[in-house]
Amino acid sequence: MSDSSQSLTLLAPVAGLVVPLAAVPDPVFAGLALGEGIALDPLGECLHAPCDGEVVQCARTHHALTLKTDAEVELLLHLGLDTVALQGQGIEPLVGVGDRVRAGDPLCRFDADALARGASALITPLVITEAAGWRLLPSARAEGERVACGDPLLVLIPAGVESAEESATGPLAERCLTLALAAGLHARPAARLRAIAREHGVGLTLQQEPATDGAESPSASAESLSALMNLGLTQGTALRLTARGDNAEAALDAAEVLLTTPEAEEHAAPPPQAVPGEALGEALGEGELAGLVASPGLALGPLVAYRPPLPAVPHDGAGEAVEAPRLNAALARVAEALDAAEAQARRQGQEAEAEIFAAHGAWLADPDLLAAAQERIRAGRGAGQAWREALDAEAARLEATGNALLAARVADLRDLQRRVMAELSDAAEPGLPDIPEGALLVAEELTPSELVAVAARRPAGLCLAGGGTTSHVAILARARGIPCLVALGPALLAAVDGSPGERAILDAERGRLVPAPSEAQRAEVAERIEARRREADAARAAAFGPAITRDGREVEVCANIGGAEEARLAAEVGADGVGLLRSEFLFLARDSAPDEATQRGEYQAALDALGGKPVIIRTLDIGADKQLPYLRLPAVPNPALGVRGARLWASHPELLETQLRALLGVTPLDTLHIMLPMVSEAGELRRVRERLEAIASELGLAARPRLGAMIEVPSAALCAASLAAEADFLSIGTNDLTQYTLAMDREDPALTARADVLHPAVLRLIQATVDGAAGRCPVGVCGAAASDALAAPLLVALGVDELSVEPARVPAVKAVLRRLDAAALAAELPELLTLDDATAVRERLNAWLARADATPDTTTTTTLERC
Ligand code: PEP
Ligand code: MG
Repeated sequence: MSDSSQSLTLLAPVAGLVVPLAAVPDPVFAGLALGEGIALDPLGECLHAPCDGEVVQCARTHHALTLKTDAEVELLLHLGLDTVALQGQGIEPLVGVGDRVRAGDPLCRFDADALARGASALITPLVITEAAGWRLLPSARAEGERVACGDPLLVLIPAGVESAEESATGPLAERCLTLALAAGLHARPAARLRAIAREHGVGLTLQQEPATDGAESPSASAESLSALMNLGLTQGTALRLTARGDNAEAALDAAEVLLTTPEAEEHAAPPPQAVPGEALGEALGEGELAGLVASPGLALGPLVAYRPPLPAVPHDGAGEAVEAPRLNAALARVAEALDAAEAQARRQGQEAEAEIFAAHGAWLADPDLLAAAQERIRAGRGAGQAWREALDAEAARLEATGNALLAARVADLRDLQRRVMAELSDAAEPGLPDIPEGALLVAEELTPSELVAVAARRPAGLCLAGGGTTSHVAILARARGIPCLVALGPALLAAVDGSPGERAILDAERGRLVPAPSEAQRAEVAERIEARRREADAARAAAFGPAITRDGREVEVCANIGGAEEARLAAEVGADGVGLLRSEFLFLARDSAPDEATQRGEYQAALDALGGKPVIIRTLDIGADKQLPYLRLPAVPNPALGVRGARLWASHPELLETQLRALLGVTPLDTLHIMLPMVSEAGELRRVRERLEAIASELGLAARPRLGAMIEVPSAALCAASLAAEADFLSIGTNDLTQYTLAMDREDPALTARADVLHPAVLRLIQATVDGAAGRCPVGVCGAAASDALAAPLLVALGVDELSVEPARVPAVKAVLRRLDAAALAAELPELLTLDDATAVRERLNAWLARADATPDTTTTTTLERC
């Protein structure tokens, strides 16, 4: 097992091109007479400290300098070759003997032109002249590689300890891919990547593909969450993954699925807002503060400041022998608490929370964070203080990236900082300050743990000076339905002090906080809150009833789910059934396909949860953006147009066979609906029906499930009549239908805004489907359009019989449909379908619905409210 927790990383003292020491044109350096190391051909004009330490030697001629670290490692920095002859000309020293420096501090400035004229070369060796008890790892830097000042250059580890990469032996495998995660490589997927490396026992590194100028990009080991996140990888980045170990290929398969599968949008962030309030064309009133909506809603209550101090810990330590084990023990206790919290959250079905605890656990074990704390312990700090400083430094680094996603992770670091310090503090835990129920809690930042703790006091809302809409705190607030504004700015805390006890308005619909509202404003907001409450109560109560439009059309509102767990949720919110169970979720995140019994158990549990309501289970939909690690499909130039969905059965009949047998094993069969994805012609459906019949007869079954097809490609929509002759039902997958109709990749962020289901071409194909199926079989919609505030009424007007949406949206969609006069909207169709583009349809539809009061004007309501 590797242990790099006490490693010492040396940073590049200057931007430059890497020169291996053996290639330096000077026999003293090249022959390693002074020690091992590396050299840089500088591109900058200032040398910086490669690590913390003390300056123990400075050449009189300023061209060389020796640093000694607290761990007694000595480093020589030699500016250029034969520079002694310059007698200090062109070099300005910035430190002297005895000065203590921190990594990155400037050491000397130089005039590169002057040095180049007088010296034989500017190549600057960094040599480890003394390192008893330490071992230098082979450099990961290639000759000629360009590094930025401060990039990690060399790593020393205690002799006798193996590095993560060294401890992994076996074959080396490499994979290139494009990151699909909408929020980039943030803490949760980084934690999962680390888990994949561990589960497969491989050393896994990740690197951004070289830029077009050929410059090498930094790489990070999957062991270090900080290093992974510091790569700052965003959606669409091309990556290279390297794995070493016997299971290298399997690890890469799993990592590829993780990094190329877009995340589910559970508790997804509200759409980004530039400056709230401004976007609505409203000026800020006096004393009002503008913020970003992290969790929508409205609240009225007294502002209560939350400023808990960090647990008190001794600044100075009793030496490494005492403090290092104390730190390790504290880390182990926190890790145990996080494991327990994760397990409890999973038991309670709080997946978002469980994922956050898992990510914190992985981050806690980050070798880079440990190394940074250990280094401070060696410098004389107490364990708690060392941890505090190490995490302060990491937080500062994340904030300095200027990347909002990384900065949003600072609250998670603060959480780990506080938890570990609390373990190392002798002082009694301060406990939660007095937070009255119904208060608006005001804080600079909140950590996820603090949010969980304060949520128990039932605050009416949260107002944060910092934070972002994608932070874990935002996710938790949304999951708990607590209105929350973030990024309110430093004026926030002054606002609390300025209006103690007064009831303020938190308007997380319009993105503003009104600390001292007038009585009239309070009354207006109280009325809005009451109206929202009535609407929500009514929607919840009515969710169990049918959705019948004003003109008497009954539309089934079902749920899209990923498995049995969500089926229970669907039943709880009043879904009329399941319109799409994506069975591929059962096949993901495992090393081999689930066997017949496992599949049957999951399908049966979903049916049981719905208690007799219809359940549509889609057969495995794999290919293009959805891949299985154990089912490698041949690489083809255009996988979205390749063998995927129902086309897969010709090459992998055993997968279909097992799945059909598992499905035929459930009871009662008359509530089961089997649906085939990516069907393009009736023959595909016919062949599966034949197989289904054969197995059912072989099993001696009297009942048969219904068999239907998805309409996801234009050919299926245009040939709906022939499909409907074979099918018991059709369901339109508007996500794929939109992509294939408009020839716009659903994965391409550059096209997201234009790949709109309301494009008249897509609407005409939906109309063709409904017309083709008329009188033969019912038609549903299970793509995202079914829960779009504008598209849902239009789909019903087009004649679809069923909408299948995220479970949480069932009540709201039913409420929208009950306000709709479908026949009146249908009368608008001829005009809507001849418009030029989706934008025109949206505008016209929005105006019509607002006039007809079928749905609120979408420019003034939040996504969650709309549907
Ligand atoms: C669709 O394409 O609309 C659909 C529901 O299938 P998926 O999103 O799973 O491809
Ligand atoms: Mg699809």
